[in-house]
Amino acid sequence: MKKYDIIVVGAGPAGLCFAGHITNKNVLVIDRKHELGRPVKSSAGTFTDTLIDFGLEDAVRHSSNGFRIILGNGFTRGFHYEKPVLHTLDFPRMIEILSERARNNCEIIHPASVEKVTIKNGTIDSIEIEDTTFKADLFIDASGETRALLKHLAPLYYQKQWLAYGLEYEAAGLDMNADHFDFFFGNTIIPEGYAWIFPTGTTTARIGLGKLVYGKGGTKKVNLKAALHDFISSGIISVMNFNENNITETHGGTMTYYKPLKNPSFNNCFVIGDASSQSSCFLGEGIRFSLMSARKLAIALNSHDIETTRMHYQNYISNMTRYFNICMIFLHFYKLAPDRAIHALMKALTDYDNANMLRILRSEFKRTDFARLLYTVPKNAIL
Ligand SMILES: Cc1cc2nc3c(=O)[nH]c(=O)nc-3n(C[C@H](O)[C@H](O)[C@H](O)COP(=O)(O)OP(=O)(O)OC[C@H]3O[C@@H](n4cnc5c(N)ncnc54)[C@H](O)[C@@H]3O)c2cc1C
Repeated sequence: MKKYDIIVVGAGPAGLCFAGHITNKNVLVIDRKHELGRPVKSSAGTFTDTLIDFGLEDAVRHSSNGFRIILGNGFTRGFHYEKPVLHTLDFPRMIEILSERARNNCEIIHPASVEKVTIKNGTIDSIEIEDTTFKADLFIDASGETRALLKHLAPLYYQKQWLAYGLEYEAAGLDMNADHFDFFFGNTIIPEGYAWIFPTGTTTARIGLGKLVYGKGGTKKVNLKAALHDFISSGIISVMNFNENNITETHGGTMTYYKPLKNPSFNNCFVIGDASSQSSCFLGEGIRFSLMSARKLAIALNSHDIETTRMHYQNYISNMTRYFNICMIFLHFYKLAPDRAIHALMKALTDYDNANMLRILRSEFKRTDFARLLYTVPKNAIL
Protein backbone atom coordinates (compact mmCIF):
# COMPACT_ATOMS: atom_id res chain seq x y z
CA MET A 1 0.00 0.00 0.00
CA LYS A 2 1.25 3.48 -0.83
CA LYS A 3 0.02 6.59 0.94
CA TYR A 4 0.14 10.22 -0.29
CA ASP A 5 -1.29 13.51 0.92
CA ILE A 6 -2.91 14.07 -2.48
CA ILE A 7 -3.46 11.83 -5.50
CA VAL A 8 -4.31 13.51 -8.81
CA VAL A 9 -5.88 11.41 -11.56
CA GLY A 10 -4.98 12.85 -14.97
CA ALA A 11 -1.86 14.57 -16.26
CA GLY A 12 -3.55 16.87 -18.76
CA PRO A 13 -3.40 20.68 -18.47
CA ALA A 14 -5.53 20.66 -15.27
CA GLY A 15 -3.77 17.88 -13.35
CA LEU A 16 -0.28 19.12 -14.19
CA CYS A 17 -1.10 22.75 -13.47
CA PHE A 18 -2.53 21.73 -10.10
CA ALA A 19 0.59 19.69 -9.29
CA GLY A 20 2.82 22.58 -10.37
CA HIS A 21 1.14 24.96 -7.94
CA ILE A 22 0.66 22.82 -4.84
CA THR A 23 3.29 23.19 -2.14
CA ASN A 24 4.41 21.24 0.94
CA LYS A 25 2.40 18.16 0.14
CA ASN A 26 3.31 14.65 -0.88
CA VAL A 27 1.58 14.45 -4.28
CA LEU A 28 1.19 11.67 -6.85
CA VAL A 29 -0.13 12.28 -10.39
CA ILE A 30 -1.36 9.26 -12.35
CA ASP A 31 -2.09 9.16 -16.09
CA ARG A 32 -3.09 6.34 -18.38
CA LYS A 33 -1.16 7.67 -21.37
CA HIS A 34 2.15 6.16 -22.53
CA GLU A 35 3.36 9.57 -23.65
CA LEU A 36 1.88 12.56 -21.79
CA GLY A 37 0.16 14.96 -24.18
CA ARG A 38 -0.19 12.36 -26.96
CA PRO A 39 -2.25 11.54 -28.88
CA VAL A 40 -3.20 15.20 -29.19
CA LYS A 41 -6.87 15.79 -28.61
CA SER A 42 -6.99 19.56 -28.83
CA SER A 43 -6.71 22.37 -31.33
CA ALA A 44 -4.98 24.26 -28.53
CA GLY A 45 -5.95 27.74 -29.61
CA THR A 46 -5.73 30.27 -26.81
CA PHE A 47 -5.63 33.95 -25.94
CA THR A 48 -2.53 36.06 -25.19
CA ASP A 49 -3.59 36.54 -21.55
CA THR A 50 -3.47 32.78 -20.94
CA LEU A 51 0.03 32.47 -22.39
CA ILE A 52 1.38 35.18 -20.17
CA ASP A 53 -0.59 34.21 -17.10
CA PHE A 54 0.58 30.59 -17.22
CA GLY A 55 4.04 31.14 -18.78
CA LEU A 56 3.31 29.07 -21.89
CA GLU A 57 5.04 31.30 -24.46
CA ASP A 58 7.49 28.51 -25.40
CA ALA A 59 4.62 26.34 -26.57
CA VAL A 60 3.36 28.78 -29.25
CA ARG A 61 3.19 27.46 -32.80
CA HIS A 62 1.61 30.49 -34.46
CA SER A 63 0.14 33.87 -33.47
CA SER A 64 -2.58 35.85 -35.24
CA ASN A 65 -3.71 39.45 -34.87
CA GLY A 66 -7.40 38.88 -35.29
CA PHE A 67 -10.35 36.60 -35.75
CA ARG A 68 -13.48 36.31 -37.82
CA ILE A 69 -16.90 35.08 -36.87
CA ILE A 70 -18.71 33.44 -39.77
CA LEU A 71 -22.39 32.65 -39.42
CA GLY A 72 -23.42 31.60 -42.92
CA ASN A 73 -25.70 33.36 -45.41
CA GLY A 74 -22.88 35.83 -46.07
CA PHE A 75 -22.60 36.98 -42.46
CA THR A 76 -18.95 37.50 -41.47
CA ARG A 77 -17.51 39.74 -38.79
CA GLY A 78 -13.81 40.45 -38.59
CA PHE A 79 -11.90 41.75 -35.57
CA HIS A 80 -8.36 42.98 -36.04
CA TYR A 81 -5.94 44.13 -33.34
CA GLU A 82 -2.52 45.82 -33.25
CA LYS A 83 -0.92 42.91 -31.43
CA PRO A 84 -1.39 39.14 -31.60
CA VAL A 85 -4.49 38.06 -29.71
CA LEU A 86 -4.83 34.39 -30.51
CA HIS A 87 -2.24 31.65 -30.64
CA THR A 88 -2.14 28.00 -31.59
CA LEU A 89 -0.07 25.99 -29.16
CA ASP A 90 1.99 22.88 -29.63
CA PHE A 91 -0.09 20.75 -27.23
CA PRO A 92 2.62 18.15 -26.35
CA ARG A 93 5.11 20.98 -25.74
CA MET A 94 2.64 22.68 -23.39
CA ILE A 95 2.23 19.39 -21.49
CA GLU A 96 6.02 19.04 -21.35
CA ILE A 97 6.37 22.54 -19.84
CA LEU A 98 3.62 21.86 -17.28
CA SER A 99 5.01 18.45 -16.38
CA GLU A 100 8.53 19.84 -15.86
CA ARG A 101 7.05 22.25 -13.30
CA ALA A 102 4.90 19.54 -11.74
CA ARG A 103 7.87 17.19 -11.31
CA ASN A 104 9.47 19.74 -8.98
CA ASN A 105 6.58 19.18 -6.56
CA CYS A 106 5.37 15.66 -7.11
CA GLU A 107 5.76 12.19 -8.53
CA ILE A 108 4.12 11.29 -11.87
CA ILE A 109 3.41 7.70 -12.87
CA HIS A 110 2.22 6.64 -16.33
CA PRO A 111 0.91 4.69 -18.11
CA ALA A 112 -1.39 3.67 -15.28
CA SER A 113 -5.12 3.69 -15.65
CA VAL A 114 -7.36 4.30 -12.65
CA GLU A 115 -10.28 1.90 -12.96
CA LYS A 116 -10.73 0.33 -9.53
CA VAL A 117 -11.94 2.88 -7.01
CA THR A 118 -13.16 1.86 -3.55
CA ILE A 119 -15.77 4.15 -2.03
CA LYS A 120 -16.79 3.97 1.63
CA ASN A 121 -19.65 6.17 2.88
CA GLY A 122 -19.41 8.52 -0.12
CA THR A 123 -15.66 8.98 0.42
CA ILE A 124 -12.82 7.57 -1.68
CA ASP A 125 -11.02 5.00 0.43
CA SER A 126 -8.42 3.87 -2.12
CA ILE A 127 -7.63 3.26 -5.75
CA GLU A 128 -5.96 0.17 -7.07
CA ILE A 129 -3.55 -0.09 -9.98
CA GLU A 130 -2.41 -3.59 -10.86
CA ASP A 131 -1.50 -5.07 -7.47
CA THR A 132 -0.87 -1.83 -5.60
CA THR A 133 -3.37 0.00 -3.42
CA PHE A 134 -3.00 3.79 -3.25
CA LYS A 135 -4.49 5.86 -0.44
CA ALA A 136 -4.57 9.62 0.10
CA ASP A 137 -6.13 12.28 2.30
CA LEU A 138 -7.39 14.04 -0.79
CA PHE A 139 -8.10 12.92 -4.36
CA ILE A 140 -8.27 15.27 -7.35
CA ASP A 141 -10.23 14.22 -10.43
CA ALA A 142 -8.44 15.84 -13.39
CA SER A 143 -9.25 13.04 -15.80
CA GLY A 144 -11.22 15.14 -18.29
CA GLU A 145 -14.32 13.64 -19.80
CA THR A 146 -13.55 10.20 -18.30
CA ARG A 147 -14.39 11.57 -14.83
CA ALA A 148 -12.52 8.58 -13.44
CA LEU A 149 -13.35 9.42 -9.80
CA LEU A 150 -16.48 11.56 -10.16
CA LYS A 151 -18.34 8.79 -11.99
CA HIS A 152 -18.14 6.68 -8.81
CA LEU A 153 -19.28 9.53 -6.57
CA ALA A 154 -22.02 11.06 -8.74
CA PRO A 155 -22.93 8.42 -11.32
CA LEU A 156 -26.08 10.16 -12.46
CA TYR A 157 -24.38 13.41 -13.31
CA TYR A 158 -22.86 12.38 -16.58
CA GLN A 159 -25.01 11.97 -19.69
CA LYS A 160 -23.54 11.61 -23.15
CA GLN A 161 -26.24 13.71 -24.78
CA TRP A 162 -24.74 16.83 -23.21
CA LEU A 163 -21.22 16.16 -24.37
CA ALA A 164 -19.77 17.77 -27.49
CA TYR A 165 -17.12 15.86 -29.41
CA GLY A 166 -14.47 17.42 -31.60
CA LEU A 167 -12.49 16.29 -34.61
CA GLU A 168 -9.91 18.21 -36.60
CA TYR A 169 -7.28 17.82 -39.27
CA GLU A 170 -3.97 19.57 -39.27
CA ALA A 171 -3.04 20.17 -42.90
CA ALA A 172 -0.07 21.58 -44.81
CA GLY A 173 0.45 23.28 -48.17
CA LEU A 174 -2.64 25.47 -47.82
CA ASP A 175 -3.29 28.73 -49.57
CA MET A 176 -4.77 30.81 -46.75
CA ASN A 177 -4.69 33.94 -44.65
CA ALA A 178 -2.71 33.12 -41.51
CA ASP A 179 -3.42 36.43 -39.81
CA HIS A 180 -6.77 35.49 -38.34
CA PHE A 181 -8.55 32.63 -36.66
CA ASP A 182 -11.91 31.70 -38.19
CA PHE A 183 -14.86 30.61 -36.02
CA PHE A 184 -18.00 29.23 -37.68
CA PHE A 185 -21.36 29.09 -35.96
CA GLY A 186 -25.01 28.83 -36.88
CA ASN A 187 -27.46 26.20 -38.00
CA THR A 188 -26.90 26.78 -41.70
CA ILE A 189 -23.22 25.87 -41.38
CA ILE A 190 -22.92 23.65 -38.39
CA PRO A 191 -26.09 22.70 -36.49
CA GLU A 192 -25.64 22.04 -32.74
CA GLY A 193 -21.97 22.85 -32.92
CA TYR A 194 -19.19 25.05 -34.19
CA ALA A 195 -16.24 24.80 -36.53
CA TRP A 196 -12.88 26.50 -36.80
CA ILE A 197 -9.77 27.14 -38.88
CA PHE A 198 -6.77 27.95 -36.71
CA PRO A 199 -3.52 28.76 -38.54
CA THR A 200 -0.41 26.99 -37.26
CA GLY A 201 1.91 28.65 -39.80
CA THR A 202 1.66 30.60 -43.04
CA THR A 203 0.52 27.54 -45.03
CA THR A 204 -0.61 25.17 -42.28
CA ALA A 205 -3.79 25.12 -40.22
CA ARG A 206 -6.03 23.08 -37.96
CA ILE A 207 -9.50 22.67 -39.44
CA GLY A 208 -12.09 21.13 -37.18
CA LEU A 209 -15.50 21.05 -35.63
CA GLY A 210 -17.23 20.26 -32.37
CA LYS A 211 -20.77 18.97 -32.07
CA LEU A 212 -23.25 17.25 -29.85
CA VAL A 213 -23.13 13.65 -31.04
CA TYR A 214 -25.54 11.65 -28.90
CA GLY A 215 -29.29 12.02 -28.52
CA LYS A 216 -31.41 11.24 -25.45
CA GLY A 217 -30.64 7.83 -23.99
CA GLY A 218 -27.15 7.86 -25.51
CA THR A 219 -28.03 6.95 -29.12
CA LYS A 220 -25.46 8.19 -31.60
CA LYS A 221 -26.99 10.64 -34.03
CA VAL A 222 -23.98 12.25 -35.74
CA ASN A 223 -21.00 10.89 -37.64
CA LEU A 224 -18.32 13.43 -36.79
CA LYS A 225 -15.99 12.53 -39.64
CA ALA A 226 -18.78 12.88 -42.20
CA ALA A 227 -19.78 16.22 -40.62
CA LEU A 228 -16.19 17.50 -40.88
CA HIS A 229 -15.95 16.42 -44.52
CA ASP A 230 -19.30 18.09 -45.26
CA PHE A 231 -18.03 21.29 -43.64
CA ILE A 232 -14.75 21.23 -45.59
CA SER A 233 -16.47 20.60 -48.90
CA SER A 234 -19.31 23.06 -48.25
CA GLY A 235 -17.46 25.87 -50.00
CA ILE A 236 -17.79 28.17 -47.00
CA ILE A 237 -14.21 27.83 -45.86
CA SER A 238 -11.65 30.19 -47.29
CA VAL A 239 -8.70 27.80 -47.15
CA MET A 240 -7.66 26.63 -50.60
CA ASN A 241 -5.84 23.46 -51.70
CA PHE A 242 -7.19 21.34 -48.87
CA ASN A 243 -7.33 17.65 -49.75
CA GLU A 244 -6.89 14.40 -47.88
CA ASN A 245 -3.26 14.12 -49.06
CA ASN A 246 -2.14 17.20 -47.18
CA ILE A 247 -3.53 16.10 -43.81
CA THR A 248 -0.52 15.77 -41.47
CA GLU A 249 -2.30 14.92 -38.20
CA THR A 250 -5.77 14.09 -36.91
CA HIS A 251 -6.82 15.29 -33.45
CA GLY A 252 -10.00 14.55 -31.59
CA GLY A 253 -11.82 13.80 -28.41
CA THR A 254 -14.45 15.18 -26.10
CA MET A 255 -14.98 18.89 -25.74
CA THR A 256 -17.57 20.82 -23.78
CA TYR A 257 -20.07 19.33 -21.38
CA TYR A 258 -23.16 21.50 -21.60
CA LYS A 259 -24.43 20.87 -18.08
CA PRO A 260 -22.13 22.69 -15.69
CA LEU A 261 -21.19 20.77 -12.57
CA LYS A 262 -22.69 22.68 -9.67
CA ASN A 263 -20.83 20.89 -6.93
CA PRO A 264 -17.09 20.49 -7.62
CA SER A 265 -16.22 18.54 -4.44
CA PHE A 266 -17.44 15.33 -2.83
CA ASN A 267 -16.02 14.70 0.63
CA ASN A 268 -12.33 13.92 0.00
CA CYS A 269 -12.47 14.44 -3.78
CA PHE A 270 -12.22 17.72 -5.72
CA VAL A 271 -12.87 17.96 -9.45
CA ILE A 272 -10.94 20.29 -11.80
CA GLY A 273 -10.64 21.04 -15.52
CA ASP A 274 -12.85 19.34 -18.10
CA ALA A 275 -13.92 16.78 -15.49
CA SER A 276 -15.70 19.65 -13.71
CA SER A 277 -17.13 20.97 -17.01
CA GLN A 278 -14.80 23.97 -16.94
CA SER A 279 -14.96 24.67 -20.65
CA SER A 280 -16.83 27.25 -22.62
CA CYS A 281 -19.40 26.42 -25.25
CA PHE A 282 -18.65 29.83 -26.70
CA LEU A 283 -15.45 28.86 -28.54
CA GLY A 284 -15.07 25.24 -27.41
CA GLU A 285 -12.34 26.61 -25.21
CA GLY A 286 -11.16 24.55 -22.23
CA ILE A 287 -7.40 24.94 -21.74
CA ARG A 288 -7.60 28.35 -20.12
CA PHE A 289 -10.43 27.32 -17.78
CA SER A 290 -8.80 24.00 -16.88
CA LEU A 291 -5.60 25.79 -15.92
CA MET A 292 -7.51 28.43 -13.97
CA SER A 293 -9.58 25.94 -11.96
CA ALA A 294 -6.47 23.87 -11.18
CA ARG A 295 -4.46 26.83 -9.97
CA LYS A 296 -7.39 28.18 -7.98
CA LEU A 297 -7.77 24.92 -6.09
CA ALA A 298 -4.01 24.48 -5.48
CA ILE A 299 -3.60 28.01 -4.14
CA ALA A 300 -6.61 27.61 -1.85
CA LEU A 301 -5.22 24.33 -0.49
CA ASN A 302 -1.79 25.89 0.07
CA SER A 303 -3.23 28.33 2.55
CA HIS A 304 -6.45 26.81 3.93
CA ASP A 305 -7.81 23.64 5.46
CA ILE A 306 -10.00 21.41 3.32
CA GLU A 307 -13.36 22.83 4.46
CA THR A 308 -12.33 26.46 3.84
CA THR A 309 -10.85 25.40 0.49
CA ARG A 310 -14.16 23.73 -0.38
CA MET A 311 -16.00 26.99 0.24
CA HIS A 312 -13.55 29.05 -1.85
CA TYR A 313 -13.52 26.56 -4.69
CA GLN A 314 -17.31 26.18 -4.68
CA ASN A 315 -17.67 29.97 -4.97
CA TYR A 316 -15.22 30.04 -7.84
CA ILE A 317 -17.02 27.24 -9.72
CA SER A 318 -20.43 28.87 -9.17
CA ASN A 319 -19.12 32.10 -10.63
CA MET A 320 -17.60 30.35 -13.63
CA THR A 321 -20.79 28.36 -14.16
CA ARG A 322 -22.64 31.62 -14.38
CA TYR A 323 -20.03 32.85 -16.84
CA PHE A 324 -20.38 29.75 -19.08
CA ASN A 325 -24.14 30.12 -19.08
CA ILE A 326 -23.94 33.77 -20.09
CA CYS A 327 -21.53 32.73 -22.88
CA MET A 328 -24.24 30.36 -24.05
CA ILE A 329 -26.72 33.23 -24.27
CA PHE A 330 -24.12 35.33 -26.05
CA LEU A 331 -23.84 32.58 -28.68
CA HIS A 332 -27.47 33.16 -29.61
CA PHE A 333 -26.94 36.91 -30.01
CA TYR A 334 -24.23 37.09 -32.62
CA LYS A 335 -26.48 37.66 -35.55
CA LEU A 336 -28.57 40.38 -34.00
CA ALA A 337 -26.05 42.35 -32.02
CA PRO A 338 -24.56 45.58 -33.43
CA ASP A 339 -20.75 45.75 -33.68
CA ARG A 340 -20.38 48.00 -30.64
CA ALA A 341 -22.31 45.48 -28.51
CA ILE A 342 -20.14 42.61 -29.78
CA HIS A 343 -16.97 44.55 -28.96
CA ALA A 344 -18.26 45.44 -25.49
CA LEU A 345 -19.34 41.85 -24.93
CA MET A 346 -15.97 40.48 -26.05
CA LYS A 347 -14.24 42.82 -23.62
CA ALA A 348 -16.53 41.78 -20.74
CA LEU A 349 -16.07 38.15 -21.76
CA THR A 350 -12.29 38.29 -21.63
CA ASP A 351 -12.49 40.18 -18.30
CA TYR A 352 -14.83 37.49 -16.85
CA ASP A 353 -17.17 40.35 -16.03
CA ASN A 354 -20.49 38.52 -15.62
CA ALA A 355 -22.42 41.54 -14.42
CA ASN A 356 -21.34 43.65 -17.39
CA MET A 357 -22.09 40.89 -19.88
CA LEU A 358 -25.63 40.53 -18.53
CA ARG A 359 -26.08 44.30 -18.49
CA ILE A 360 -25.08 44.62 -22.17
CA LEU A 361 -27.23 41.68 -23.23
CA ARG A 362 -30.24 43.03 -21.33
CA SER A 363 -29.85 46.51 -22.77
CA GLU A 364 -29.52 45.26 -26.36
CA PHE A 365 -32.41 42.89 -26.50
CA LYS A 366 -36.09 42.96 -25.88
CA ARG A 367 -37.18 41.55 -22.55
CA THR A 368 -39.12 38.70 -24.23
CA ASP A 369 -36.14 37.68 -26.42
CA PHE A 370 -33.90 37.70 -23.41
CA ALA A 371 -36.32 35.57 -21.38
CA ARG A 372 -36.64 33.11 -24.25
CA LEU A 373 -32.87 32.76 -24.48
CA LEU A 374 -32.49 32.30 -20.77
CA TYR A 375 -34.84 29.38 -21.14
CA THR A 376 -32.59 27.75 -23.76
CA VAL A 377 -29.62 27.40 -21.42
CA PRO A 378 -29.55 24.04 -19.65
CA LYS A 379 -32.20 23.73 -17.02
CA ASN A 380 -29.80 23.31 -14.14
CA ALA A 381 -27.91 26.47 -15.04
CA ILE A 382 -27.15 28.81 -12.16
CA LEU A 383 -28.09 32.24 -13.40
C1 LIG B 1 -10.95 18.57 -31.05
C2 LIG B 1 -10.77 19.47 -29.84
C3 LIG B 1 -10.31 20.76 -30.02
C4 LIG B 1 -10.13 21.60 -28.91
N1 LIG B 1 -9.65 22.85 -29.13
C5 LIG B 1 -9.42 23.66 -28.08
C6 LIG B 1 -8.87 24.96 -28.30
O1 LIG B 1 -8.60 25.35 -29.43
N2 LIG B 1 -8.63 25.74 -27.22
C7 LIG B 1 -8.92 25.32 -25.95
O2 LIG B 1 -8.69 26.08 -25.00
N3 LIG B 1 -9.46 24.10 -25.72
C8 LIG B 1 -9.70 23.26 -26.75
N4 LIG B 1 -10.20 22.01 -26.52
C9 LIG B 1 -10.51 21.62 -25.13
C10 LIG B 1 -9.23 21.31 -24.33
O3 LIG B 1 -8.42 20.40 -25.04
C11 LIG B 1 -9.61 20.73 -22.98
O4 LIG B 1 -10.47 21.66 -22.33
C12 LIG B 1 -8.40 20.47 -22.09
O5 LIG B 1 -7.54 19.53 -22.68
C13 LIG B 1 -8.88 19.96 -20.73
O6 LIG B 1 -7.79 19.68 -19.89
P1 LIG B 1 -7.96 18.65 -18.68
O7 LIG B 1 -6.61 18.50 -18.08
O8 LIG B 1 -9.09 19.03 -17.83
O9 LIG B 1 -8.41 17.26 -19.38
P2 LIG B 1 -7.68 16.39 -20.47
O10 LIG B 1 -6.85 17.20 -21.38
O11 LIG B 1 -8.75 15.54 -21.07
O12 LIG B 1 -6.69 15.47 -19.63
C14 LIG B 1 -7.17 14.40 -18.85
C15 LIG B 1 -6.02 13.42 -18.60
O13 LIG B 1 -6.53 12.38 -17.76
C16 LIG B 1 -6.06 11.14 -18.22
N5 LIG B 1 -7.00 10.12 -17.78
C17 LIG B 1 -8.30 9.99 -18.16
N6 LIG B 1 -8.86 8.94 -17.56
C18 LIG B 1 -7.91 8.38 -16.80
C19 LIG B 1 -7.89 7.25 -15.94
N7 LIG B 1 -8.97 6.47 -15.76
N8 LIG B 1 -6.72 6.93 -15.32
C20 LIG B 1 -5.62 7.68 -15.49
N9 LIG B 1 -5.59 8.78 -16.30
C21 LIG B 1 -6.72 9.12 -16.93
C22 LIG B 1 -5.98 11.30 -19.72
O14 LIG B 1 -5.05 10.38 -20.29
C23 LIG B 1 -5.53 12.75 -19.88
O15 LIG B 1 -4.14 12.87 -19.97
C24 LIG B 1 -10.41 21.14 -27.60
C25 LIG B 1 -10.86 19.82 -27.42
C26 LIG B 1 -11.04 19.00 -28.53
C27 LIG B 1 -11.52 17.59 -28.31
